[in-house]
Amino acid sequence: MRVLRVALEVPVAKLFDYLADDRTPAGPGDRVVVPFGARERVGVVVEIGEGSAVATARLKPIVRVLDDAPPLSADWLEQMRFLSSYYQRPLGETVAGALPARLRSLKPLPKQRGPAAHPSGTAAPRYVAGHEPNAGQALAIGRICGALGGFRTFLLHGITGSGKTEVYLRLIAQVIERGQQALALVPEIGLTPQLEARFRQAFPDARIAVLHSALQDTARTHAWLDAARGEAQIVLGTRLAVLTPMPRLGLVVVDEEHDASFKQQEGLRYSGRDAAIVRGKLANCPVVLGTATPSLETWFNCRAGRYELLTLAERAVPGATLPVVGTVDLRSETAEHGLAKPVIEAIAARLARGEQSLVFINRRGYAPVLACEACGWAAGCNRCTARLVVHAADRRLRCHHCGAEQAIPRGCPTCGNVDLRPLGRGTQRVEETLAGLFPAARIVRIDRDSSRRRGVLARTLEGVGRGEGDILVGTQLLAKGHDFPSLTLVCVLNADSALLSTDYRAAERLFATLAQVGGRSGRREQPGEVLVQTRYPGHPMFQALMRHDYAGFAQSQLAERESAGFPPYVHEAALRAEATRLQATMAFLKAAARLVPAPAGVRIYDPVAHVITRRAGYERAQLIVQSASRPALQEFLHAWSAALPAAAPSGLRWHLDVDPIEFD
Ligand code: ADP
Ligand code: ZN
Ligand code: ZN
Repeated sequence: MRVLRVALEVPVAKLFDYLADDRTPAGPGDRVVVPFGARERVGVVVEIGEGSAVATARLKPIVRVLDDAPPLSADWLEQMRFLSSYYQRPLGETVAGALPARLRSLKPLPKQRGPAAHPSGTAAPRYVAGHEPNAGQALAIGRICGALGGFRTFLLHGITGSGKTEVYLRLIAQVIERGQQALALVPEIGLTPQLEARFRQAFPDARIAVLHSALQDTARTHAWLDAARGEAQIVLGTRLAVLTPMPRLGLVVVDEEHDASFKQQEGLRYSGRDAAIVRGKLANCPVVLGTATPSLETWFNCRAGRYELLTLAERAVPGATLPVVGTVDLRSETAEHGLAKPVIEAIAARLARGEQSLVFINRRGYAPVLACEACGWAAGCNRCTARLVVHAADRRLRCHHCGAEQAIPRGCPTCGNVDLRPLGRGTQRVEETLAGLFPAARIVRIDRDSSRRRGVLARTLEGVGRGEGDILVGTQLLAKGHDFPSLTLVCVLNADSALLSTDYRAAERLFATLAQVGGRSGRREQPGEVLVQTRYPGHPMFQALMRHDYAGFAQSQLAERESAGFPPYVHEAALRAEATRLQATMAFLKAAARLVPAPAGVRIYDPVAHVITRRAGYERAQLIVQSASRPALQEFLHAWSAALPAAAPSGLRWHLDVDPIEFD
């Protein structure tokens, strides 16, 4: 007896069996409507099996096959199987999570947009060439083009402004020319409106499907269908785009591969970068990882010979050079209101010359603490182990961990003192200070608070690119990908907290952030300067940054990781849990650690509470499992994830995170 094994969006780790019957023939990859309880649901046939654990009399046939979208291909299903198995998530949920909601619903799909711009048979879309490639770019393009038609992973290590995007565009032109599709992944589309514009400029009559999580469902469905039908020649998107079927995939590009936002932090906790490599392998095409500051994992793989290294060592614009990086020693320079004198003078000099400055501070809000000096009280969140952040503009206190907010109290709730002080500083306070110092300057603040509404960020960034604004104050949002021609100075205010962090990835992240943010300056003829305020000017990380020596920095970091037994020298998974009482969380994790015997070479650590233990009313802890052998770790995780659901008490939430990168 033949049965169809169907993936359904149900939180249990199994497929559902239906009778294969000749009146409604269906095969792997078909979307089908099936009876489920009293309702009908849409699922995906994953395989055809012989026999079922369910009694034959109880098996039902499917209702119908949906043919309004192409069936999901074998290599797409293979990718889903891999992700499901590697990240320990049921196949049904993995498949469902990869499909736009509309493809999982009983509603018919929206009408197809006009026919493909270039139906197969006509000429490939034209490519409007940018600059003639320089020697480094030409070499990289040549190597990667030579690898088209087969799987190979490249690391395109190019300093900021070295012309990596130009390289991607030329490669994509080649791929389209061959009648294939190209997939380009970027960390966050909203942050790089210029990138989409550049793609459209380079390929004015290509069909480009743009995919990211902020899209409305209909738009996402259209883009997805364009890709799946093979009509979009280019798919440009965030990590979720890597889950889109593309029948003629010929190239995968991952821009800013080091960026942490490629890792999904909920549901299927996959790495978009790692999934891209799997995708390239299945589609038998090259994968290009581009960045100025590779992740240590990628650098390690490169040195081990698994990836081919291509280097762009110079800025592409003739005459443009990397910024000069200097430190301002906070032990000898006083920093009134957070800005040291050399920093203020450097900004003043830029203002006098009509150039732009960027002041980078990795903290939004006005001040991170509101405190009473009389009794020592500080405003805290009731639901989190965290202080409330002062937001001066609308006079609110906000928790940056759970979103709770309240009005700023008139006086201290414990002693009644009305003189409450904001301590420390965030972007809003720095903006205020700068406005006081430079009353005539146009100051633009860019952080998540200033750009909540859709489209605001893109418009602000475009304005800044055209020279609107003299001083930019901002967070991480400013570090990525933007090209501001008149920006010549970057000041970094509070880098030290990362140096003192207990997270072993903090130094790697700080180096990448500073190199990226510094890379915003001096992208044209005027040279750029970066000033970092620090109490540790002699720190090796700053020394490497000043020399623009990523390789040296990476080598010292890798040596530290190796001697401490951290990734990439070992592989890790985290079991995280949260319950209303820490005791319950810890009891579960302790029991979980003994649930399945660890095979040789797999080490289970003791559970540890998160630094911010309570978040939104839940007490959180995690335990780490480590192994130098990926297969051994995977074997353990399979047995473990099968046993865990029965061990979890009700009211406790838990998940496994394979290759975790966030530790708070
Ligand atoms: P990256 O992506 O490496 O940061 P981009 O591709 O954005 O660099 O290029 C940086 C700048 O250099 C852009 O203004 C781009 O137009 C310019 N550029 C790229 N390649 C060349 C080239 N071969 N000759 C001159 N300018 C170039
Ligand atoms: Zn008080
Ligand atoms: Zn909170």
